[in-house]
Amino acid sequence: MKSETARKMFAVATEAIFATDASTISFLHALFYIKSNTHLDFLMNVNKGAQQDRIKGGAQSICFKMAAALGDTIHYEKAVTHIHQEDSKVTISGQGFSYTAAHCIVAVPPAVSTEINYIPAVPSNQWQLMKASFMGTVVKCYAVYDRPFWRKEFKNGLVAAPDELTSVVFDNSPFNGSKGILMGFSLAEKAKQLMQHDQATRKEIVKASFVKMFGPEAANIEYYTDKSFTEEPFTKGCYAGMFPPRVITELQTSLATPFHRIHWAGTETSTQFNGYMEGAVRSGERAAREILEL
Ligand SMILES: Cc1cc2nc3c(=O)[nH]c(=O)nc-3n(C[C@H](O)[C@H](O)[C@H](O)COP(=O)(O)OP(=O)(O)OC[C@H]3O[C@@H](n4cnc5c(N)ncnc54)[C@H](O)[C@@H]3O)c2cc1C
Repeated sequence: MKSETARKMFAVATEAIFATDASTISFLHALFYIKSNTHLDFLMNVNKGAQQDRIKGGAQSICFKMAAALGDTIHYEKAVTHIHQEDSKVTISGQGFSYTAAHCIVAVPPAVSTEINYIPAVPSNQWQLMKASFMGTVVKCYAVYDRPFWRKEFKNGLVAAPDELTSVVFDNSPFNGSKGILMGFSLAEKAKQLMQHDQATRKEIVKASFVKMFGPEAANIEYYTDKSFTEEPFTKGCYAGMFPPRVITELQTSLATPFHRIHWAGTETSTQFNGYMEGAVRSGERAAREILEL
């Protein structure tokens, strides 16, 4: 790209999509990821793009409704540490529990599933692929205001700012506009830089950015909070597992290949909408089908 601005904007777009610096990921994986999610414009765009819709009550409300329908068949607070396959059964266990089944579906990001002990061991190439997968780095920074003041100036709250630590900003206000919420994504290396500071300093950094973007009213933050997804022990980051260069071509295997009684799901195993909730759901259906068709 000839233009410095175009290069910077492209860097913001790749950070926003992959949550990691473009230099860290396999070009093959990047192309697969984009194709599996339609095309680059779709991933970046709000209007008719992946960023268009929000879920009333938050994305977690889907999980809560599904969990309510499933009742007490879900066993909470039970981290699986061991999966032991034998000729006729598979036993999954952790601290204080053990369950036996004919088959099991492992539906966690590869970077997390490699913390489980598998007996027998996962085939070498598949294991190396799982081990090579790494999660992106994302911090979401929320500033709450008494109202969405930017709207009166016909600003929609959407910003792409390559030189700021919160490089992509959205209007995240509630549907009724009772409060104004600006949500800034801090991504990849910028997220790591931001997390070097304590929360009070992070608030000042984010406030200064929002003032540059939206004017002096943006300094009147009623409440600030932020969330680093890297600190989540059961996901280790987001949005999804990425691959560094070479491993896909060298290992020539797939995350989704069943291993005896273990079937693999999770968005990283999906050929469509990889990295997204849609991909996760499709992978679950595919893994369930694999077992039903045995
Ligand atoms: C900040 C952020 C923004 C995102 N935005 C979007 C978006 O706008 N649209 C979109 O479609 N997607 C988005 N995503 C991505 C989306 O969240 C993932 O694609 C989706 O959650 C993947 O689902 P999954 O079932 O594959 O894995 P996960 O959601 O990671 O579920 C894995 C589950 O397994 C559990 N687990 C892990 N280890 C163990 C263990 N040892 N024993 C038992 N349980 C275990 C975890 O607690 C977790 O509940 C976003 C993600 C983040 C973090």
